[in-house]
Amino acid sequence: MIRLSAIRKSFGKQEVLRGIDLTVEKGEVVAILGPSGSGKTTLLRCINYLERPAEGQIAIGEYQLDAKKATKKDIHALRLRTAMVFQNYNLFKHKTVLENVMEGLVIVRKLPKDEARRISLEVLEKVGLASKLDAYPSSLSGGQQQRVGIARALALNPEVLLFDEPTSALDPELVGEVLEVIRRIAKEGITMIVVTHEMGFARDVANHVVFMDGGVVVEEGKPEELFGSPKEERTRQFLKRYS
Ligand code: ADP
Repeated sequence: MIRLSAIRKSFGKQEVLRGIDLTVEKGEVVAILGPSGSGKTTLLRCINYLERPAEGQIAIGEYQLDAKKATKKDIHALRLRTAMVFQNYNLFKHKTVLENVMEGLVIVRKLPKDEARRISLEVLEKVGLASKLDAYPSSLSGGQQQRVGIARALALNPEVLLFDEPTSALDPELVGEVLEVIRRIAKEGITMIVVTHEMGFARDVANHVVFMDGGVVVEEGKPEELFGSPKEERTRQFLKRYS
């Protein structure tokens, strides 16, 4: 379903991704773990070209792109297949909850307003925010704002949902409600890649766990393998710190 091959990316002289290969099957939830600075966010951003990889191939379903040859049209086509949930929500502050979710459908997907509205209502219901349609982001809790972020991504009906540390900006008491929404969506069989520090969540919800360090995939496997009997010393050290 999704195949990343030999993805490389540098910022100046610093090589942040040093040849990443990753395969994600349809309907799978993949958690990416690793210490801060290991390149997790950069990898996620490369998947939808928020960062441009220097080298490598990205395939999503039938669609394939070679980083060295990608045209604007390729990048647009890739973005139509993905949607990102950001650490800091990235909501439009001067738009209501409903308008935030409708925006991408109307502007990017070019749907008629009434259809965009229908889809938006449906996904907002799904994340438990049907009563907040006309609220502005500033009047919502962090957890509610992130649920709007998730609704907005979900509304686009992407082939893969990308989550960049979706709970790391939240007060601890609000983390649970957001993870619960992600868990519920995962059960619907949507393909997801989640960069997270929430080990319990990764263990429970992911089908596949990837441990990155220093711009490479150090180890990957089923959660019970990676958490239960990590093979690599670096993985063991990391898990020890977080458990
Ligand atoms: P992680 O998500 O694992 O914490 P990141 O992908 O955010 O790691 O960052 C990996 C490295 O790349 C870090 O050293 C970070 O400082 C650097 N980096 C990330 N984004 C940029 C950028 N836009 N410009 C320069 N350096 C960056």
